[in-house]
Amino acid sequence: MADEQRAVIELDHVQKAYGDFVAVHDANFSIGNGEFFAMLGPSGCGKTTTLKMIAGFEQPTAGRVLLDGVDVSSVPPYRRNVNTVFQQYALFPHMNVFDNVAFGPRSVKKMDEARIKKDVMEMLEVVRLDKFASRKPSQLSGGQQQRVALARALVNLPSALLLDEPLAALDLKLREAMQIELKRIQREVGISFVFVTHDQGEAITMSDRIAVMSEGVVEQIGTPTDIYRAPKSLFVAGFIGSANLLPAIVESSAAGVLHVRTTDGVGIRVPTSSTTFSIGQQVCVMLRPERLQPAQAVTEAGGGLEGTLTDLVYQGATARLLVRQGDGTELSALVDATTLPTWVQPGSKLSLVWAPDCPYVLAGWPDRAGATTTNVDHVEAAL
Ligand code: ATP
Repeated sequence: MADEQRAVIELDHVQKAYGDFVAVHDANFSIGNGEFFAMLGPSGCGKTTTLKMIAGFEQPTAGRVLLDGVDVSSVPPYRRNVNTVFQQYALFPHMNVFDNVAFGPRSVKKMDEARIKKDVMEMLEVVRLDKFASRKPSQLSGGQQQRVALARALVNLPSALLLDEPLAALDLKLREAMQIELKRIQREVGISFVFVTHDQGEAITMSDRIAVMSEGVVEQIGTPTDIYRAPKSLFVAGFIGSANLLPAIVESSAAGVLHVRTTDGVGIRVPTSSTTFSIGQQVCVMLRPERLQPAQAVTEAGGGLEGTLTDLVYQGATARLLVRQGDGTELSALVDATTLPTWVQPGSKLSLVWAPDCPYVLAGWPDRAGATTTNVDHVEAAL
């Protein structure tokens, strides 16, 4: 097995219950050497609890946690070869940057001071703070303090670095700069990073793979592109990017193509390699907004839905179109603002059309039909 495929962290059917409440159900996945892995999901879905079980701050109520192939389920945090950076990264205020980073090597390993100096300065170079070694934390910006915290957690070269919403306290601009910086640092040190976030844009920008969690369950693990293009559940489809989700019934299925009819009576042709759909089944057709184009009439090639343009919102290079269908459900399209035809005007009747490979089908019906406006155009742009 190539080294980058070697599992550094393995969760073997891990469960965490607090009394009757199960916070994490049967988490069963591995994280590879040098991988940037995000755990993504809404508040309370069990991300931090999973991270704490990897770090050793929480014990699983079932299953095992393995680090570098060794079962560490009953090993305390300080004996595990992982470090954690929290949102509140609490540097020692009375120590300068150098001493903050040297604190771990000085207290844990009995290294000689020359070696410590070399390691600390190398790590300060990685986080680009070598010129700030003698400053106190109070003399640093928020982003610089964050980088000191990273250097402190990385200086011992742990097998993995665990990060719990580490950028949440930073303002938007700094957060975006730190996303790029974190990715660069991770590449440079080559250590696995496990990153907890509820911000899908952040997860998509930085991660090699993402585990999407909901209510204690890992719904899907995959690359950002896989998860975006082929979500396995309605929850994932709506949580990553924005999606038009149209309830429909399967009418026929043959040779990799499903014919479905929406509850609004429109027939849609959906290419699928899945053989799990049956005639009469309730399904949802997902149409990503950036795959839809306005047209004056539906073409034979792909498919289309007719409606009235209720809103046209310019967002710089792109424009968001909201189209209300006959049954009142709204569809959202994200189009190139520079090539928008003049007949696309609020109040006008138009069709939204798509290429044949655009529709994607999922089992079940959503709670609410139409567009799920998670309002994250940068997600589409990042993929
Ligand atoms: P957030 O993004 O808000 O931090 P999260 O996805 O990290 O959320 P967790 O902190 O893992 O969520 O919590 C998962 C669930 O477990 C929540 O419903 C939480 O209330 C519950 N929980 C966490 N710790 C405990 C505890 N010590 N006792 C009881 N319930 C807990």
